[in-house]
Amino acid sequence: MSAGGDGLDSLLATPHDGAYGEMTPPIYQSSLFGFSSYAEFEDRMAGRSDRPLYSRVQNPTVSAFEQMIARLEGAEAAVGFASGMAAVASTLFALVKPGDRIACITHVYPDSYRLMERMLRPWGVEITYHTPEAFEAEPELLAGARLAYLESPNSMMMEVMDLRAVAGHARRHGVTTVIDSSWATPALLNPVALGIDLVIHSASKYISGHSDTVAGVVAGRADLVARLRDLTLPLLGAKLAPFEAWLLLRGLRTLEARMRQHGRTADLFVDRLAARPEVTRVRSPGANAVPGLRGRSGLMSVEFAENVDIPRFADALKIFRLGVSWGGFESLVVPAAITLRQAGEQNAPQRFGVPPRLVRLSLGLEGAEDLWEDFMQALEVATG
Ligand SMILES: *Cc1c(COP(=O)(O)O)cnc(C)c1O
Repeated sequence: MSAGGDGLDSLLATPHDGAYGEMTPPIYQSSLFGFSSYAEFEDRMAGRSDRPLYSRVQNPTVSAFEQMIARLEGAEAAVGFASGMAAVASTLFALVKPGDRIACITHVYPDSYRLMERMLRPWGVEITYHTPEAFEAEPELLAGARLAYLESPNSMMMEVMDLRAVAGHARRHGVTTVIDSSWATPALLNPVALGIDLVIHSASKYISGHSDTVAGVVAGRADLVARLRDLTLPLLGAKLAPFEAWLLLRGLRTLEARMRQHGRTADLFVDRLAARPEVTRVRSPGANAVPGLRGRSGLMSVEFAENVDIPRFADALKIFRLGVSWGGFESLVVPAAITLRQAGEQNAPQRFGVPPRLVRLSLGLEGAEDLWEDFMQALEVATG
């Protein structure tokens, strides 16, 4: 499936191999790490050693997760955070200042949109929103921007962009590029190889894979990750906890295998949905839809025809559950009509143009035929 392919599988399957031959790393559940001498303590404080000091900034279990993500992304460095939003917020606050402009993708993740509008804009940061086509074809929109904030695909609409082209435009304009790549994971896309500076993941989704963890991570250029480590990691303090890091390392062991399964189920849905008159459009980018994309994840959007009663469809589902988030073992649906009704945001740039008959599906790890059968029986109820 992936360019990383067996290499990625083998990397993820490598045991920890600690002092006792343990296959998995210990959870270092300690807030601080002591020193045995004045000289050792002084060396650490002077930056002459990198021994762990205090778990707000450094913890061996968290470091093991960060190093694994950096290797999977082909990035120079990585830093973990308490949530995907902590990763997004820490990155933006570390890299922009009042007077700067962020060129942001349309239909950005809704809480990233609210961070920009409710915190960054009142703080004096300008934000402009641009479609994937504009990022590709109108490089001048980057002139004078500090940062390009990207998603490919973006939220709900699943629109993709040629990241190599956009990274090239950004480099010529001296603009730092950041992508939220939670949809793809390192199993399907490596934005750093395409020239992107920083890659953010909500690790709560596929990287965890088990709907039991909220976490985030940023990987990319060493100088930029060092800036996050110096500034927002210690000063905003939204650090990743050792137990969560341990759960994420466990999730990563099966990432490639899970993504293959999600992808196979998604391929089956895309093939069969094409023949269904009740579905007017399927939004699900697959392998080579844009350069560097190696496959389909299990998160897609479909648009239903007028004769489908969407609330009845949702209520008739037996395996699919209704719920936010995605990327776990369980299949979920989110009708856009519900999120579109969220207070006061009907005309907000990240909502505008979302078809009200759109439903997002997160295809989980259940049997593909069982999921298809469930989808079809609910559709029958909803059109009856
Ligand atoms: C869930 C999500 C986030 C936020 O991540 P949390 O871990 O929930 O804070 C950011 N971006 C995308 C695309 C997401 O789906």
